[in-house]
Amino acid sequence: MSNKLTTYKCKKCGRVMYPRHDRCLKCKGREFDEVEMPLPATGKLLTFTQLFALPWGFDQRFLTIGVVEFKNGVKAMGQLKTPDVKVGMRLKASWEPVRVTAGEKVYGLRFEPA
Ligand SMILES: [Zn+2]
Repeated sequence: MSNKLTTYKCKKCGRVMYPRHDRCLKCKGREFDEVEMPLPATGKLLTFTQLFALPWGFDQRFLTIGVVEFKNGVKAMGQLKTPDVKVGMRLKASWEPVRVTAGEKVYGLRFEPA
């Protein structure tokens, strides 16, 4: 499966974002270049939360969701593979199945301690 993440770099100010936004979060620019970020990649955990009421399709009883900042400035949300995490720790991001919907695997970012 995909071993890279498509990020979006503002043509005006150079800010890199994921996922794509209509307008740049920094300068409100509307034009972006697609930049492939190779995975797995490591980043720093900025914040996380645990969800206990999960939609149908998840096998887990609860999920830990975190926001990780990568070296290129991208902040991306994804599932943490372990609930045993601390803000500021380094995590490795991979592109993996996160759940099954209507018999099909849905892929997303998953993080584990680096
Ligand atoms: Zn911009």
